[in-house]
Amino acid sequence: MSEPAVSMLRPAKRAASAPAPRIFDQTDVGGSSDAAKARLEVLRARYAGADALTLLRGAIKTEFPGRITTVSSFGSESVVLLHLIAQIDPSVPVIFLNTGKLFGETLRYRDRLQDRLGLTDIRAIRPHPDDEKALDADGTLWSRDTNACCNFRKVLPLRRAIAGFEAEITGRKRFQTAARTGMSPIELNGPRFVINPLWDWSLVDLKNHILTHDLPRHPLVEDGFLSIGCMPCTQRVKDGDDYRSGRWAGSDKDECGIHENVEGDGI
Ligand code: SF4
Repeated sequence: MSEPAVSMLRPAKRAASAPAPRIFDQTDVGGSSDAAKARLEVLRARYAGADALTLLRGAIKTEFPGRITTVSSFGSESVVLLHLIAQIDPSVPVIFLNTGKLFGETLRYRDRLQDRLGLTDIRAIRPHPDDEKALDADGTLWSRDTNACCNFRKVLPLRRAIAGFEAEITGRKRFQTAARTGMSPIELNGPRFVINPLWDWSLVDLKNHILTHDLPRHPLVEDGFLSIGCMPCTQRVKDGDDYRSGRWAGSDKDECGIHENVEGDGI
């Protein structure tokens, strides 16, 4: 689809409003057992002040061996987290949400990173075909209801894929959205621990890591895309504009829902 045609179908512009803090960013979340909450405090004390690699190594090798996964969009900075994980254990399962709406460049970049980093367990998951047929037979739901589209293309498939894992590693950073400014390196999402090794990294830190290790960049970054998701909901970002302003541009949506607490939209 050409760029002008895509723009015409994008959701109508709405005045952006400040997002409310989400349940996920709170420490004492519903759905977490007392034992899990107690362990959270132990882990936070044990890894207080730890750098990203130390926290990751501890989570993968010591705290949750064989019971930890990561979810990657293979977007603009995904390579940083994947590079760190691969240094510790390239067999950590990497869940890749193939929504059916991704850029072709993202799929090719995923394959390139798999080869470069030696990742051995990338699990590509898709929306359930029954959901797709019932909810989005013509593939244009994103133009009418982005939350419903994200729910069946991302949230529900991930919920199925991540069941059984005790912990999840994310690449979320504090600088990305207003709601993420209060995040911690270790969190609880219902019964599952969430490890955020890049929580306090800046955009400059990420770029420096990529340059230092000569890591391949997503090909669309050079073309002006800073945060890369599905093709219909991602736009180029002008110099000086907010990092994620190209995602669901013009709407107040800034999260797809996969990082919401299970008491909210759910993983
Ligand atoms: S980002 Fe857009 S196309 Fe992708 S699942 Fe969400 S609404 Fe649908």
